[in-house]
Amino acid sequence: EEELPSLGHVLVTGGSGFLGNHIVKLLSRRKACSKLTVLDIQTPANPVPGVDYQNGDLTDYDAMLPLFQKLRPDAVVHTASPNHFNRSKEMMYKVNVDGTRVMVRVAQESGVKAFVYTSSASVIHDTKSDLINADETYPLIMGKNQPEYYSNTKAEAELHVLASNRTAEHPKFLTAALRPSAMFGEGDVQLLPPGLSAYFKGQTKIQIGTNENLFDFTEITNVAHAHHLCLAALLTTRDREDKGGARPLDHEKVDGE
Ligand code: NAD
Repeated sequence: EEELPSLGHVLVTGGSGFLGNHIVKLLSRRKACSKLTVLDIQTPANPVPGVDYQNGDLTDYDAMLPLFQKLRPDAVVHTASPNHFNRSKEMMYKVNVDGTRVMVRVAQESGVKAFVYTSSASVIHDTKSDLINADETYPLIMGKNQPEYYSNTKAEAELHVLASNRTAEHPKFLTAALRPSAMFGEGDVQLLPPGLSAYFKGQTKIQIGTNENLFDFTEITNVAHAHHLCLAALLTTRDREDKGGARPLDHEKVDGE
């Protein structure tokens, strides 16, 4: 494992969920931060020792602002999203879009330096067309071109997070978004268990398509590692700029002259 700078106080939204819990466990095991806080509406079955678990609804601005002002995290990892098995469109919009706006706003208003958003690979997928060697230059698929309501909310939230990077009002607030593809690993309840259950019940008699399609799956600890790297990159950039170093944009201008 490479040497990464200390991250300071990190707050993980959805830290009781599948991915959030893995991020918390990874950062804790690596002693990557001075303090780790989880913000979630539920408490996990196995809390990670030393982590401060805060129960709260992230869509509630009036509750979140005082909490953030009290806790003063240096960085936020925003993984929370409605439960996969029980989510209405209304709930998806409220948590993914409105909730992300609340998180960005309270982070900006409480002096958070870096904000990492867990988006989804589905934001560039229309569910029909093949994506071959797709990268971040692909356009977001939104509105009438996006049949998946969930993906549309993730794209809308991602756009907001990225547009909040270095705004005129908060020029030092740095943001990034990561787009994992379907995640598997310890604690998975969404991906492999339903497939295995269908297999063991013998529900495998119907095949849709030619069985030749490929799909990307991501092992959960790799996704957690990516979040750690992303946090470290944003905080290192911010730290360098706070010490008077040039912004990457300034370098580009100098090189271009
Ligand atoms: P999860 O359901 O296991 O965890 C989400 C957590 O968010 C839960 O603990 C839940 O209690 C919390 N939460 C929901 N609403 C909240 C609210 N209003 N306030 C506070 N906490 C709230 O989900 P996951 O599978 O770990 O997914 C994490 C993130 O990764 C999500 O943003 C999801 O969109 C994204 N993602 C997931 C996958 C996947 O395969 N699971 C793939 C790509 C992207």
